[in-house]
Formats: sequence, C-alpha cells, structure tokens
Amino acid sequence: MSEISEQTRLKSPYPWQHQVWSRVEQSLQNQRLAHAIILAGPKGLGKQVFITAFGQRLLCSQPRDGMACGQCKSCQLNSAGTHPDLKWVLPEEAGKAIKIEQIRDLQSYLANTAQQGGRKVVVLGPVESLNVNAANALLKSLEEPSVGTHLLMFSHQLSSVLPTVRSRAQIVQAPMPSKEESLHWLSNLTDMDPQQLLELSNWSPLQALELCDADVFQEKSSVNKIIGSVYTGDLTIIAAVSKLHKLDMMSVLHCLLDHIDHNIRGMMSSKARSGQQSIQKLFDVRDKTLVLSQQLQKGANPNKQLALEELMLLYRRAAN
Ligand SMILES: [Zn+2]
Repeated sequence: MSEISEQTRLKSPYPWQHQVWSRVEQSLQNQRLAHAIILAGPKGLGKQVFITAFGQRLLCSQPRDGMACGQCKSCQLNSAGTHPDLKWVLPEEAGKAIKIEQIRDLQSYLANTAQQGGRKVVVLGPVESLNVNAANALLKSLEEPSVGTHLLMFSHQLSSVLPTVRSRAQIVQAPMPSKEESLHWLSNLTDMDPQQLLELSNWSPLQALELCDADVFQEKSSVNKIIGSVYTGDLTIIAAVSKLHKLDMMSVLHCLLDHIDHNIRGMMSSKARSGQQSIQKLFDVRDKTLVLSQQLQKGANPNKQLALEELMLLYRRAAN
C-alpha cells in the first residue's frame, strides 16, 4: 500500500525532466496540448512522477511558474490524495495487466462532469499492460475526448503498445538524465557509492535509488555476479540456473537486460570489427529476454527453469 500513498502526494518533476516539462507546459499555454499523451522511455526515469505532477498542475487553480501552487483547494486535495477529478488507472498488482473492468470504470468516470468544476485528469499506465480488450475499450475514450479531459499515460515499452492506441496519443520521449546529473542527484540521497549503484542499474537513477535498500542491493549484486560468471564461463549454466530460479524472475530478467546492454555498449564503443557477430548474438538474447519479460507482465507462467536455461545458454554462446 505504501506505493499507493506515495502516488497520491503532490509531486514535482525530477531535475532532469525540467526541459521537457517546459515544452509540455508551453504546448498547454499555446492550447496545443493533445488531450492524450504517452510519456515513453525505459523504466526508472520517473515517468509516472512526471505525468502525475503534470496532472496535478492541470488541476491547480493558480499555477505558479508552470507548476502546481501547492496551496489552492485542488492542490490540497492532491496532497491528501483525494482529488475527485484525478483518476488512477494502474495494474491492481505490480507487473499484472490493466483489466477491462478498470477501463469500463474509467469510461463511466469520464462520462460525468468534473466535480471541482475544472479539468479532469486520468493517469494511466504502463500502457503496454492493457490487454487487447482493455485497449480496444480505451480507444473509444481516445477517439471521442470530452472537453477538459486529459489522458496522461506512460509506457516503459512503447513498441508493445497497440498501434491503434499509440497513433491516437501524442508521444513524448521521457528525458534521460546525463551520467553527471544522475551521479549528482543520487549522491545527495545516499551515502553509498553512487557510481556503483548506477552501474548496477544501467544508469537508471530511480532504480539506483531502490538499490540503496541493503537487501535489494545484495540481491542485485549477487544476480549480477552470477550472470557475469556465466558470460565469462566461470560458472556452469546448471549451477547458475539452480541459484537464479529461486529468485524473482522479473528482477533476474532486468539484471540480464542491464548486463546485455552494458556489453552491447562496450562492444559498440570498441572499434573492433570482429565484434559484429557477437553483437548480433547479444541482440538476439536481448530480444528473447524482452519477450519473456513482456509475457510475464501479461500474467504468463512459463517454466522458469527451462526459460532461464535457454537464456543463459544463449548468453554464454554470445560471449564466444
Ligand atoms: Zn494549486
């Protein structure tokens, strides 16, 4: 439940989001803001915070410098998490699908007028967790927007979002902080080594912050170590899988993706042409890992051991 209460407080954008914020704010001022937007980018960049903050700014009756004032009645309701004109549509359980019932509920909410007499805001995401039925139901709301209604959505994997939904929303790329920005931001929040935390998180500042929890850090470090040892051939695939299959599959897949991305970046920055074949192999494992994580997000229940064995084998081969 802590996540819910976290979502309901008055938010402000992260430092690395200010430029994009100004752009979106400018579109609003020029009355060119699309009624539906999708903020798209990898996990851990603070997309949900950004769109929540922007939704709260849209509801604020006296915004200051393009931000929610924090004092008007709307802002007070948002601080308490009780604003009747801000609707959340998120998976009921992390990693699960957004259900058709939730979209039907959204439709009846949209059919009513705003209770505070102003705008109505919907924060929905990740968009890729809508199943086909739910996405089709949402299309109607995207096609026939009611005046003053803003559908603010976010997506971690835009390529998995149905094209019919994608094409009806304005896509905004979530800003990535530079390494320096991430280091600076994180070093103000933790005594741990920010460089190490960020490297373990593929330079995603919010995932790095999560690692500040010692247990999470330990687990991620050890998963990373196991995956690294498979790649270098220091650990057999059977031994690796026997350790990994006891852990949370999504976390293992995220670690694997980070590891693969790190290797791809390393190979791409080295000039050696001999690496081309290996890069292709790495991309193949990456694709398979992504597909599996998407299936898990949609509630599939694959044979963990077999799936991990296949991925580890492919990863080991990519190293040769
Ligand atoms: Zn306000």
